[in-house]
Amino acid sequence: MIIGMVGGGQLGQMLAHAGVALGHSFRFLVPEGECCVESLGQVFRGDLSDTKLLHEFAHGVDVFTFEWENVPQATLESLANMAPMRPSPQCARVAKDRIQEKKFFQSAGLNVQKFAPVLCEADLASALEHVGVPAMLKTLGQGYDGKGQRCINDAARAADAFNQLGKVPCILEAFVEFDFEISLIAVRGYQPNAPSQAMTYFYPPCQNQHINGILHKTSVPAQGVSSALLQHTRVAMEKMMETLDYEGVLCVEFFALHTPLGPQLIANEMAPRVHNSGHWSIEGAVTSQFTNHVLAITRQPLGSTATHGNAVMINLVGTIPAHLQAQHSMHSHARAGMLVEDAPAAGAALDQTAGQLDDVTVHIYGKLPRAGRKLGHITAVGENAKHRAERFWNG
Ligand code: AMP
Repeated sequence: MIIGMVGGGQLGQMLAHAGVALGHSFRFLVPEGECCVESLGQVFRGDLSDTKLLHEFAHGVDVFTFEWENVPQATLESLANMAPMRPSPQCARVAKDRIQEKKFFQSAGLNVQKFAPVLCEADLASALEHVGVPAMLKTLGQGYDGKGQRCINDAARAADAFNQLGKVPCILEAFVEFDFEISLIAVRGYQPNAPSQAMTYFYPPCQNQHINGILHKTSVPAQGVSSALLQHTRVAMEKMMETLDYEGVLCVEFFALHTPLGPQLIANEMAPRVHNSGHWSIEGAVTSQFTNHVLAITRQPLGSTATHGNAVMINLVGTIPAHLQAQHSMHSHARAGMLVEDAPAAGAALDQTAGQLDDVTVHIYGKLPRAGRKLGHITAVGENAKHRAERFWNG
């Protein structure tokens, strides 16, 4: 099949690697600037609202998908009129607005933190009264990796925070004193031999640690979440996916905490796509999140989400540590034949490479280094995965 991918970052890159291995070919629609899918298919670059560009991109495409939901909704909807889009534009719409997203979580039976809309400065007083402080003020859309949000400890400073966020429509959320964060990743798809029956599989819960709002480390399986609570949460996510007639991978991120009523999971946000906290599945699961997403959107039978044991993934953010560059170049078994230290220099034209070192797999996306930017990740699977990943990362 020809898959039309909206977006060309590392998620698109890893999806294309999985899809090419399954015999598919790719076309990418990306905004001006750097992307990391150049060698994986034809790239259509420009204004994502340009109708002519959309038609050129859509030519011959069998199915569209997106690796990034923060693109104009009208773009997704126009494309979906030309070929099926999986998941549908409606799934992106829900995830683009934090208020709609929270209401959707509630309607499926998930708990959310107290929240109130702040559509203009005049809403701040009543929102603060309802939510209290400390609180998080977040833009309704376009937020990722901790961007577009401010913590409010003092109600008197709330207007400053609203101004700093550009006076755009926001949500005020109660600050959650969580014990830890987890994500649940599911894949839902129709089976070719039972076209009216969708199957849903879940990966084990992922425990996530963030630094400055950016995912640092994922450990699988998450420890300390009761199986009853997980079961309740999975049922709610299945309901969400059924409501959206979802096809593909869906991730929901949760805060885990203990309350006087017992342990709770609070749904924070959803990603209607493959997710950073699922990268470990490339080495750590029978079928990776990327392969399963491609199988779902092409309506092929889904693969097992069983794991090969414990897994730990650590992101390489901002820079690739020098010791990783040196080790990788010495031992490189790189699939794409690229050494780590070549990545920053070669930049946009490069493809991802992965190399196996000391039982740890190093993935480099070939992006130019910049503060806060995800440049790659490492994964360790099996016995002592945590120890091996951390030792490797620390040098
Ligand atoms: P988000 O963009 O909503 O995923 O937020 C990024 C990170 O900021 C989360 O993973 C949390 O570590 C932190 N965070 C976001 N919202 C809250 C909240 N309401 N209470 C406490 N921490 C939060």
